[in-house]
Amino acid sequence: MSTIDVASVATALAELRERIRRAGGGQDVAVLPVTKAFGPDAVEAAIAAGCTSVGENYAQELLAKRAALERVEVHFIGQLQTNKVRQIADLVGVYETVDRPKLAREIAKRAPGARVYIQVDTSGDPGKGGCPIGDLDPLVDVVGGLDLSLEGLMTVGPTHGGPEAARDGFRSVRAAVDRLGLATCSMGMTADLEVAVQEGSTQVRVGTALFGPRPVHNWREQER
Ligand SMILES: *Cc1c(COP(=O)(O)O)cnc(C)c1O
Repeated sequence: MSTIDVASVATALAELRERIRRAGGGQDVAVLPVTKAFGPDAVEAAIAAGCTSVGENYAQELLAKRAALERVEVHFIGQLQTNKVRQIADLVGVYETVDRPKLAREIAKRAPGARVYIQVDTSGDPGKGGCPIGDLDPLVDVVGGLDLSLEGLMTVGPTHGGPEAARDGFRSVRAAVDRLGLATCSMGMTADLEVAVQEGSTQVRVGTALFGPRPVHNWREQER
């Protein structure tokens, strides 16, 4: 199992802050360290480097890393099946991937008052989730009628085409954040964070640039 070195995560975080600064962002751009597929040591290293939140994608992994994750604010950033919400509700601080009424209703039921972002699909890539931008306003209305706190929008750039391919989508999501009067615009990952910051991201979600390449098999599979 690969181990994460606390000093190199701290160095990588400083370098990441510099990348954000060069792209025109300041301390107002939050860094969400994405610890998916890494072991609890990545969560511990992020905490040691001064981070207070992490992003995770998979319900089973959350449960397996419970002891470490209880010490930070967990942002759920993966596609979420409604039947998994109940199991992870006590561990999740922010649900970033609300993309359909059924999921919003389940979160409101299992975690009343939960902080949520709506995920918008700007890439059209299969398997990424997100509601089409045309469905955003009806979903905002649904969420507004539930016991949920809608704080922002989130989007994932396209896998292919390079960082510039994300620009138009990022711009439309930031415009929607402003129009809706929301606080948070979660967009940008290791490969496209400069474009995201230029287009008004307030939260970049970064794994690789902080922890190195993800293990091919996640840490639990490696242990078996
Ligand atoms: C994995 C993941 C990230 C982080 O990706 P990196 O390229 O490693 O920075 C960000 N957002 C989401 C939704 C992810 O699934």
